[in-house]
Amino acid sequence: MEEKTNINLTSHQISVVTRFAPSPTGFMHIGGVRTALFAYLYAKKMGGEFILRIEDTDKAREVEGSIEHIMKSLRWLGIEWDYGPDNPGPHGSCKQSDRLDIYKKYAQKLIDKGLAYPDPYTPEEVQAFREQAQAEKRPFLFRDHRPKTFEQWDGSKPLRLKVPEIKRYHWHDEVRGALEAGEEMLDDIIIIKADGFPTYNFAHIVDDQEMGVTHVMRGEEFISSTPKFLSLYDALGIPYPKFVTMPPIMAADGKKKLGKRDGAKDILEYKTDGYLPAAMMNFLALIGWNPGGEQEVFSKNELLEKFSLEKIQRSGGAFNEEKLNWMNKEYLQKLSAEAFTTYAAEALPEAITSLSGYSTEILTKLSPTIQERVHVKSEITEAAERGEYAWAFATPEVTTEMITWKKDARAEDALPRLQKAHQLLMDADFSTPDTIKAALWDYAQEVGKGELLWPLRVSLTGLERSPDPFTCAYIVGKDEAMQRIKNAINKLQ
Ligand code: GLU
Repeated sequence: MEEKTNINLTSHQISVVTRFAPSPTGFMHIGGVRTALFAYLYAKKMGGEFILRIEDTDKAREVEGSIEHIMKSLRWLGIEWDYGPDNPGPHGSCKQSDRLDIYKKYAQKLIDKGLAYPDPYTPEEVQAFREQAQAEKRPFLFRDHRPKTFEQWDGSKPLRLKVPEIKRYHWHDEVRGALEAGEEMLDDIIIIKADGFPTYNFAHIVDDQEMGVTHVMRGEEFISSTPKFLSLYDALGIPYPKFVTMPPIMAADGKKKLGKRDGAKDILEYKTDGYLPAAMMNFLALIGWNPGGEQEVFSKNELLEKFSLEKIQRSGGAFNEEKLNWMNKEYLQKLSAEAFTTYAAEALPEAITSLSGYSTEILTKLSPTIQERVHVKSEITEAAERGEYAWAFATPEVTTEMITWKKDARAEDALPRLQKAHQLLMDADFSTPDTIKAALWDYAQEVGKGELLWPLRVSLTGLERSPDPFTCAYIVGKDEAMQRIKNAINKLQ
């Protein structure tokens, strides 16, 4: 075997270069995004480069708009690439369809070494070989039909690798450890198709080499093909990168791989549903990576600091939507009042935003009571639809029965309580819930808290359950609060 040499040493020697190499086929599923995240975190932690490479060599599978979709998804999460389809690097375009000349150049090197040849058969003939093998119950291997002499390649036929050595391959995976596979995996695979495009098998190896990729991080579905890749590295005389196999993402029960039915959606649907990108990043980082210890909430900077290949797990990590919701709540609670108000406003249905009393000012005051409990946007919409927020923007209809719902708050008791509260609030400061509370607290304690708070809260909201009356009074403002208490008094009289 000839000595391994670098065909193209990158001019700038960077210690770690990783890449995420999606095919533009539409959907950005959770598994892909998690792979991108790990590759990004590792490169950046090591002060290296992260490349977004678009593997668009299968034109039939391409879905229009996918490249934009991929970029938008990664950008939303905060995964930034040094080079990508929008930003070619020192090694040229990061879209494989723009790099056909480079693959041809590498293919020519193999032809020159006698390690590649045009497939002399028609597709029908190859199919017949395959069927024959099937009938004889043996695996189909193209190398069994390798022609004795190679024709000149004119590009009209697929170009195949002449697999350089039939042997058992042993390799090291940074996560899985020692792996090996035998000669049954090795074959004269197609490297350039008849349409002039390279196959994935060939193109990714050329690109990883050209782009100086040091760590190939991808899913376990590529393990079985690795001997083929290794035979290509050998044929090309280039060194192997480090292989880092990502653990699969499992459904919440941990038993099967995550599928669409288990709630896995396109990543941007999570954005629409009101998941925050930092929460999503944190959540994804913990699927198959376990830094140890109790900590679960990690900022991006903490992830960058702590991420390591050693802590990537071999076995699958579960996608647990409940945990995602919990995580999102953690991050929602960190939002500024202003940011959360904007978030809540987007979630409110028109039935609320079209109320005549609707205003950002009132929503800003209402928001903290929502922020405390909510996990995700839909909970706000649903609560609004259940009628939980309308009171803040429109005077509720309140009946005598409502005010006296509570068994021990009889109408004849409620009336003097409300009258006294009204009087105490006349000169009160309404600038915070606490200043309102201060005006009423002594009296509430004197008569028994529930005796005052219940009728007062119902007068303000018309609801059996709502925030405390001081907060409610603060939210609707002094004039409106006084009016609502007055309305209740009138009802009771
Ligand atoms: N284009 C391949 C895919 O989408 C990339 C695999 C790799 O990372 O090498 O699965």
